[in-house]
Amino acid sequence: MDREGSQDQRWQAFSPMSEPSGRHQELRGWSWFLEHRVPVVTEEVAQDALLSFLSTRCCSSRVAAGGLVIRELRSWTLCRYRLQTFSESRTSEGTFQPLTRLSVDGPQRGASPRLWDITVPVPPMFQEDTRRVQVPHSSHVKECHKCRGHGRVKCSSCHGAGMMSCPCHSGAKHRAQRPRRCPACSGSGRHRCSTCSGRGSRQCATCRGEKRLRHFTQMVVTWKNSLFESLSQHALDCPPELLARARGHSLLQEEGTQVSPLEAFPLPEISRASEHGTAEHSAALGPGARILRQRQTVELVPVTEVHCWLRGRPRVFLICGTDLRVHLANVPGRCTCSVL
Ligand SMILES: [Zn+2]
Ligand SMILES: [Zn+2]
Ligand SMILES: [Zn+2]
Repeated sequence: MDREGSQDQRWQAFSPMSEPSGRHQELRGWSWFLEHRVPVVTEEVAQDALLSFLSTRCCSSRVAAGGLVIRELRSWTLCRYRLQTFSESRTSEGTFQPLTRLSVDGPQRGASPRLWDITVPVPPMFQEDTRRVQVPHSSHVKECHKCRGHGRVKCSSCHGAGMMSCPCHSGAKHRAQRPRRCPACSGSGRHRCSTCSGRGSRQCATCRGEKRLRHFTQMVVTWKNSLFESLSQHALDCPPELLARARGHSLLQEEGTQVSPLEAFPLPEISRASEHGTAEHSAALGPGARILRQRQTVELVPVTEVHCWLRGRPRVFLICGTDLRVHLANVPGRCTCSVL
């Protein structure tokens, strides 16, 4: 539900208005409301979901409808709070490039602007990205530190000699075994270095032979998403990642530059979660970061516990979310032929 008008109006559309006041009454009213808000999984739906789940298991493709007898269905509705924060951070770092252009944008053209004063196009909201931008007027030219301004460095293969000793002359014993003239060195014992073609040096990779480097400040802009998630308390034997992936029925969705905590939300657990989440995301921001957009949602996640007989054995399955994700609850580990 989108935000409309004042804080109070936000709850009106789905608040159980006729409930008497008092915390206990309020909670009872809400649990009633939550359970009736989401369509209940019927026996027929449960049967279809379980059979299709079982058909994906290697060992149980032949479970016929008759092999599955549902004894009891118990339904719960969990409430899930999510806060997504899209933030931008800016840091700067020194870097250099070979000096290939003569014009250099240095301090003689003015003072460098502060990082947050530099205009950088923002990617679409909630889309992570990183961009590197040169800070204006921050360039200066220096001699290349690697080659000390020569443009070339000593060849590491021949250590500057331009020649290498031939393996045929590596030892007297070796030579004695090869009476014929070596074709690689024509018997001289040395041959030209192939890395530098005999020059003894090669082009400096740091300045690419330009002898000088342009040093400048680079701004690194990072856009990132942070997620805070909280699920109302439950005693269900269900992996948290399954519940996190399960689709929910949307109860509230708010988006803005910065959302405020849902202080007056009728479920205290959700209020606390939203206070926690917004505080956590604000605290996690460093001095070089700011929030661009936030989105908070409250969803109802239906969970149905299915007690059944499967091939004559008692089993408990959970069906989670509006997308009916199935989990075999009372058997540890993965499904094997002996289990099912
Ligand atoms: Zn060499
Ligand atoms: Zn040789
Ligand atoms: Zn160099």
